[in-house]
Amino acid sequence: MGRASRGHKRKKRIIGITVLALVLLLITGAAAALLYDARHAELEISGQKEIVLEYGGKYADAGAKAFSRGKLFGQLDTPIDVYAYIPHDIDELGEHEVKYFCSYLGRSYETVRTVTVVDTVFPVLELVPSGDFNATVDRGYMEPGYSARDNHDGDITSQVIVNVSGDRVYYSVSDSSGNTVYAEREIRVAPTEPVIMLEGGEFVTIEAAISYEDPGFKAYDGNANNVSDRVVVKGEITPYLTGEYDFTYILDLGYGEPVIASRKVTVVPVDMPASVAPAQKTIYLTFDDGPGPYTEQLLDILKKYKVKATFFVTAQNPEYLYLIAREHEEGHTVAVHTYSHEIYSKDETNVYSSVEAYYADFMKMRDIIYEQTGMYTNMFRFPGGSSNTLSRFNPGIMTTLSQAMPNMGFKAFDWNVSSGDANGRRKPEQIKQNVIEGVQSISYGYAVVLQHDIQDFSVEAVEGIIIWGLNNGYTFAALDMTAPRTPHAVFN
Ligand code: ZN
Repeated sequence: MGRASRGHKRKKRIIGITVLALVLLLITGAAAALLYDARHAELEISGQKEIVLEYGGKYADAGAKAFSRGKLFGQLDTPIDVYAYIPHDIDELGEHEVKYFCSYLGRSYETVRTVTVVDTVFPVLELVPSGDFNATVDRGYMEPGYSARDNHDGDITSQVIVNVSGDRVYYSVSDSSGNTVYAEREIRVAPTEPVIMLEGGEFVTIEAAISYEDPGFKAYDGNANNVSDRVVVKGEITPYLTGEYDFTYILDLGYGEPVIASRKVTVVPVDMPASVAPAQKTIYLTFDDGPGPYTEQLLDILKKYKVKATFFVTAQNPEYLYLIAREHEEGHTVAVHTYSHEIYSKDETNVYSSVEAYYADFMKMRDIIYEQTGMYTNMFRFPGGSSNTLSRFNPGIMTTLSQAMPNMGFKAFDWNVSSGDANGRRKPEQIKQNVIEGVQSISYGYAVVLQHDIQDFSVEAVEGIIIWGLNNGYTFAALDMTAPRTPHAVFN
């Protein structure tokens, strides 16, 4: 090899080394660059990372994108697949996580989007009908109705809270998310003037009775408050005497003019059958003050001659009260005389001490007759007759009772023939004679004979009276509601 050749060879080697060195440098530089570049995937959510969604809206996933990024070379257009996880209940109320995944260069990446579904929509509370309520004074406030619906909870009418306070009604209802809605209405009361309302009206007609009770009333102030207890009632009534009675109802609230209402009460008599004149020559035998020890004997005599009589009974001999049942069963008329027959005292034990005392005594006996016969009688005879003067310690009582009792539907009977058996002991023959003369002296055709079956001598006279009557063309009958009253003159 020549020098030149040796020199050429060396030059070549230098070039070779240099190239190698350059290549090494290049590789080293590239590796260093790659290392420095720190290439990775970047996962980026499209749209907002935190979403608040109203209930009822549909969640639409905007997805996420992934791309490659390094320090040195920045973003590369290398496509990276992204996978999304969307919870199936994402439309329900609450907080949900939507997750996105990708992998790149052997590494996994994940990111999360928060989706919160809220209900901020208020329920709809509807008053049916809407608006204020016009209450009436007498009926007050009555809830007209309401309904509530919610976009999430549905019908929540049953959860509406209603509060009546003063003249306002407050309604509220909340849905399950705590959205509360309110409504209210005013209670308007008409009329706004105080008022008295008379039950039964301004004109009342009643049948005569021993007592009277006002049919009632209601009074309200302008705010529909019941102020009935502040009404003063003025007026008086004698409920067993027919006529017209005026009552005034005054409501004075202390302001404005007093409210005044008035009522006219008309007392009318109870309807009674009219009296009918009997056939000529009718004799009504009537026996007062029993039953007693001789009543059974009397009933036997009446039965023997098939004669019907009338008994004005008392409870003076309680052990004989059972005979009232027999009197009734055998076709006789049983009517009230008196329970106590107390007409001699001058105090409140006397049946004539007051209308009320008389009525109480009367009713007591009437009830006993009902117990014995099963029937209420409306027939009676005043103790002592309506002409008695023993009652004069209470002036006018007979005049009042003579009106009051028929007004209340009770028919009073007196007599037109007295047997004289109440004026001390007599012989039966004398009693018989008194009755016959009495019957014969009556010119108008019928006789109502007074006897007492608590007098043995009077009972003993009955058979002779019956025989005489039958032999002389008389008919014996029992009194009834259409029989003549043969009223006495009233002397008190
Ligand atoms: Zn008597």
